[in-house]
Amino acid sequence: MAEEQPRPRVVAVQDVLVTLEQPEGEAAAPMRKNEVIHVHPRRQEADGEAALKGEILRVNGNRADAQIYESTRGVSVGDPVTQTGEMLSVSLGPGLLGRVFDGLQRPLQGLADTHGTFLPRGVDMPALEPKRRWTFQATVSRGQHVGPGDHLGSVREGTITHRVFAPFDLDGEAEVTWIEEGAFTVDEPIAGLDTGEGQRTVCMSQSWPVRTPLPQQLFKRRRVKRVYPETPLATTIRLIDTFFPVAKGGTACIPGPFGAGKTVLQNLIARYADVDVVVIVACGERAGEVVETLTELPELTDPRTGASLMDRTVIVCNTSSMPVAARESSIYTGLTIGEYYRQMGLDVLVIADSTSRWAQAMRETSGRLEEIPGEEAFPAYLDSTIKAVYERAGVLETPHGEHGSLTLMGTVSPAGGNFEEPVTQSTLASVKAFLGLSSDRAYKRYYPAIDPLISWTRYRDQLRAWYDANMNTGWTERVQRMAKLLGEGEDVRQMMEVTGEEGITLGDYVTYQKARLLDFVYLQQDAFDPVDVSVPLDRQREIFELLHKLLTRGYSFDSKADARETFTRLIQLFTNLNTTERRSHRYGELLEQIEDLANKHAAGSGEESGETEPAEAAS
Ligand code: ADP
Ligand code: MG
Repeated sequence: MAEEQPRPRVVAVQDVLVTLEQPEGEAAAPMRKNEVIHVHPRRQEADGEAALKGEILRVNGNRADAQIYESTRGVSVGDPVTQTGEMLSVSLGPGLLGRVFDGLQRPLQGLADTHGTFLPRGVDMPALEPKRRWTFQATVSRGQHVGPGDHLGSVREGTITHRVFAPFDLDGEAEVTWIEEGAFTVDEPIAGLDTGEGQRTVCMSQSWPVRTPLPQQLFKRRRVKRVYPETPLATTIRLIDTFFPVAKGGTACIPGPFGAGKTVLQNLIARYADVDVVVIVACGERAGEVVETLTELPELTDPRTGASLMDRTVIVCNTSSMPVAARESSIYTGLTIGEYYRQMGLDVLVIADSTSRWAQAMRETSGRLEEIPGEEAFPAYLDSTIKAVYERAGVLETPHGEHGSLTLMGTVSPAGGNFEEPVTQSTLASVKAFLGLSSDRAYKRYYPAIDPLISWTRYRDQLRAWYDANMNTGWTERVQRMAKLLGEGEDVRQMMEVTGEEGITLGDYVTYQKARLLDFVYLQQDAFDPVDVSVPLDRQREIFELLHKLLTRGYSFDSKADARETFTRLIQLFTNLNTTERRSHRYGELLEQIEDLANKHAAGSGEESGETEPAEAAS
């Protein structure tokens, strides 16, 4: 920026919100919404503190309101401002995996050691390591034509083949005028393009405005297309994969009151989900939680590759100690990084914990701008903003015919666990799966505390064909039957609360016991047991089919005590089974004992076909 150029100046400061004014009558560059600016506090310029980064939220004639991503301590009226002419953007290129960034994509090294010490104010660090060299292999040659998002070549990034793309904002086709293989840093030129309107030099990194979906230009030019999600995202959590599956490329919301286990569940999913890349957006939760994740992940190995789990993970983190504006941007930063890896034909999972904190950041900013508030003082655009975020998930077919997916899961932490509040409600209207955690189940230590009676998923039907082909024919119907049993068991339980055990029939009591067995040995899963913590789909299939057989069968018991004793024993056997390596000798023994015990109490042989309705069976 040349000194002579007319620059806006600060005319008002209100917490992290500053009002800028351009000098009248001079040829200044127009200020635009979402443009990144830098404020130069005059008082600090002397001791060399760098400029403070911010973003314009609203333009009104020659005035604009901007939010500053850091503390505005020391900023005063008259301070000069630089316009960048650019939107808030992230750097995309090799070297994102395994890294921890804040919401502005500034690297947070050693966070785990320093327990949440963040960067000093005004420090801008490159997101991608500037000195590291990557061995670039070209897949196109001089004279070839490429469009936006086409592969130019690739580098090896850990276990993945990291594609180097022609610029995503390329306006039409361009001719490759030169391309060079070898070891380069992310900022060194690797190719030249003739766009027809001029020459453009390309390096391995490119930047993209976070608030714009990465494939926007590609959609417009029909270079990518949306594909219907039809494969489940295997989390190895039984309750999710069997009962409330989420498709790869789908969306899910995990609401739950404080302490219900959202973060633990998110971390389990991050660890075990069968995806290539995981982006964890930790917005506004306690620093301690992020530190836990950061210290755990590098220790764990990815069952798919044998490498450290951190190698496939990117963490974007902001804790409540960081300024609100940086928190608000973190979800977009995480999504854009996720979209970038999806464009390589990879399966990506983005998990945001918690989106409530993110929405609160939006509310605070909106409040400062004195916008007309909607419900509970959230801005009126809360609903459309949440929708737009979840719309960035999906399966895409790339220009190279590969399928990449981005699955988005967000936790919501409504105050007091009240799901009627605006953030939960807007999220529920935007997602296709709802995994609702209940404090009741968490209190009883029924983990994961997903409440099967309130949760739902639209993917159960959408994935029916996949489950029929890859699990067993009729899988979805059997799952529905078992979900119904849980409801029936709950009805009996409520009845018993009023009338006591004596007040219900033996048949109803058996229904209750059956539902309880299913809950205890299938829905609940022990995150601290090395075997039970992660149950692959083929093992889920085996246990589910066995349970389905046992639970749709008729039994004869002498008394309620007899039924209770038998089911308690079955729970013990199944619990042991769940913590035993599959196909071990012990595993076989336990299966046998389960079958024997169930057979001993089976009703007359005619009813053993598995067709008998549980409620009418025993009496
Ligand atoms: P939230 O994020 O909803 O506030 P957390 O995920 O931090 O809640 O969980 C709170 C506590 O509950 C954990 O510290 C842990 O003790 C317990 N917990 C949660 N999920 C599980 C689980 N799957 N297995 C065992 N304990 C759990
Ligand atoms: Mg949490």
